[in-house]
Amino acid sequence: MRTYDCSCGATLFFTNTHCHTCGRTVGWCDACRAVTSVSKSGQCETPGCGQRLQPCANRDAYEVCNAMVSADAGSGALCRGCQRTTHAPDPSDARNLTQWRALERGKRRLHYDLALIGVTDQQLDAEPPLTYRFLADTPDEHIITGHADGVITINLAEADPVVREKGRQQFGEPQRTIIGHFRHEVGHFLWMRLVENEAPHDDCVRLFGDHENPPYGEAMDRYYAEGPDPNWQANYISQYASSHPWEDFAETCGFYLDMRAVLDTLEHQSVRSLSVRRGADLDELLDAYIEAGLTLNEINRTMGLTDLVPEVVNEPVREKLRFVHGLFPVHAELLASV
Ligand SMILES: [Zn+2]
Ligand SMILES: [Zn+2]
Ligand SMILES: [Zn+2]
Ligand SMILES: [Zn+2]
Repeated sequence: MRTYDCSCGATLFFTNTHCHTCGRTVGWCDACRAVTSVSKSGQCETPGCGQRLQPCANRDAYEVCNAMVSADAGSGALCRGCQRTTHAPDPSDARNLTQWRALERGKRRLHYDLALIGVTDQQLDAEPPLTYRFLADTPDEHIITGHADGVITINLAEADPVVREKGRQQFGEPQRTIIGHFRHEVGHFLWMRLVENEAPHDDCVRLFGDHENPPYGEAMDRYYAEGPDPNWQANYISQYASSHPWEDFAETCGFYLDMRAVLDTLEHQSVRSLSVRRGADLDELLDAYIEAGLTLNEINRTMGLTDLVPEVVNEPVREKLRFVHGLFPVHAELLASV
């Protein structure tokens, strides 16, 4: 994740709503694709931009995002990120609101990742477009986190650290985080958009297996009854990836996004010895990430935290990652809106 500059010279972070140095209002400006300070008269202060801005209506009412929208958009206008959320929880409940904010932060970070790897707005917005539902369990319905036909549904409880930690232990998922959920679920979306009816389909089946045989439901029933493939570490990035080719693709894609996001952060935080050149191939990216992981894991252990990069990458997984990497343009820039 890169950082941005306030007009006072201070560093701004991706989720800032105010500059901690000068107190100016700051937020995301879609016109210049940056977190920027906003003048008292409501203009973007990025040099050369000057877009007249107003806060996204969700920012104004609920502080669930830090986006600004064009002042011409009219009252009640939502930013592009908030427009993608078709179902949000009842914000009159304080706990819902806290959890909704946490999920929106993860979602915005995901869209930064997608822009980073070169996924375009057209790819996100083709039919069916990528949208989100953030829903709480009710006495009658348990919300299952997942993806179907462009819609990513996240159970609001995943924003509760206690619930998440229980799941982390119960399902043996060391990377069970909010952003981890998003990076996994968007893998299903990207499979639908870039693989299902496209040229890479046959190579995908060759690497990840036939997603039609066994059928998904049957494979998942077996996974939950019998547990993961006992030999999963030889072929998969995680236990869960051994459940079905679709989950293998989503888990691999999630790891790929973790890798690209961490390397991007290292580059922008000027940790030069651990960053890679632009346009690096998969082996350069992966080797740099594995090397960075040794340092980052040790830092986390120093502070009593879980490993930042717990995965072990074997040869079959490296080939699957090479396939995922090949789905995206080599020289991606920040093309899509965040
Ligand atoms: Zn400032
Ligand atoms: Zn701007
Ligand atoms: Zn918004
Ligand atoms: Zn999945």
